[in-house]
Amino acid sequence: MGKELTYNATLVERVDYTDALATFKIEPDEPLPGERPFLPGQYVTLGMNNEARPELGSVRRPMSIASAPEEGAVLEFYIRWVAHPESDNPLTHLLWRTRAGDRLFLRAKAVGRFTLEHTVGSDDRRHKLLVAAGTGLAPFISMVRSHHLRHPQAELAGYTILHGASYPADLGYREELLRLAAERRLGYYATVSRPREAPDWPGDQGRVEDYFLPGRLEELEARLGFAAGGLNPENAVVYICGLQGTIGETIIRLLPRGFVPDNRKLRRALEVPDDVPASLFFEQYDATPVIDVGDPELMGRLRAQLRAALAVA
Ligand SMILES: Cc1cc2nc3c(=O)[nH]c(=O)nc-3n(C[C@H](O)[C@H](O)[C@H](O)COP(=O)(O)OP(=O)(O)OC[C@H]3O[C@@H](n4cnc5c(N)ncnc54)[C@H](O)[C@@H]3O)c2cc1C
Repeated sequence: MGKELTYNATLVERVDYTDALATFKIEPDEPLPGERPFLPGQYVTLGMNNEARPELGSVRRPMSIASAPEEGAVLEFYIRWVAHPESDNPLTHLLWRTRAGDRLFLRAKAVGRFTLEHTVGSDDRRHKLLVAAGTGLAPFISMVRSHHLRHPQAELAGYTILHGASYPADLGYREELLRLAAERRLGYYATVSRPREAPDWPGDQGRVEDYFLPGRLEELEARLGFAAGGLNPENAVVYICGLQGTIGETIIRLLPRGFVPDNRKLRRALEVPDDVPASLFFEQYDATPVIDVGDPELMGRLRAQLRAALAVA
């Protein structure tokens, strides 16, 4: 049971996309310290006391910042109400009872290394392929907004966002992203995994990781402006954010292209030589291992695929 939190931030706006998906704008009493108080891709911890059931105490959870550092002191979050929580005091259930003006806890320190700066560096020229499942879109909103705010006239053609959700209504930030696609050449493709329940949906169908199925890779490459086979670490860096399934399947499907995950445990299991730089980075919102490294048959196949890809490169 978490001890009582002293509230230090105010919910200034909440916009509900659906019953279970919302953006929260939260203003800390003291702005986060520093000239650039966070880097796009970082997260903070939000917390609340369970006032209806004080015996459950408080709960804190990490949340990616969806706003850009250039937007000022108010931080934006893109959050899903979790239908089947694992804890007895889920934060999202407390958050869903809040309204503008309510108080909560926000740890005044942004952390995390899922940023361009901590991975390949902000001057890396390769295409940034940003793969998001559900609310895993949040860090990528921060990245493209930040680039756009710093360079309002510049094109965003160096980024492509792939966003997957169950239904069209779950595709948060769609209007903003469509506008940036039309006006600033941001690459943006959305896919829904339950198209039968949305017959008017004109976009792609399937889970977001299915863009990387062998039969669909060439089409994706054409959209990215690459020749067939061009989606490789020489031309692109991949960032994935969301739950285990999307992350694991995307990694598995991109290993034959030579994409090397940054994660130390995976690198070791895949026997990646130390001098091969990472070209695939992920931020995981749940705790299930993204790939079962204890499965000898799976790991044998993945090692062979990656070895073959690195030998050709
Ligand atoms: C670095 C980091 C950044 C995060 N950023 C965000 C964010 O920007 N937005 C966000 O909604 N969540 C985010 N999360 C997840 C968040 O921290 C909580 O795990 C989530 O809100 C559930 O907390 P809870 O207390 O309500 O439920 P818990 O009782 O802790 O339930 C955990 C269950 O929730 C599931 N779950 C966790 N996150 C999600 C999700 N986003 N969508 C669907 N199922 C989920 C897990 O699979 C797990 O089964 C982030 C997690 C990490 C580690």
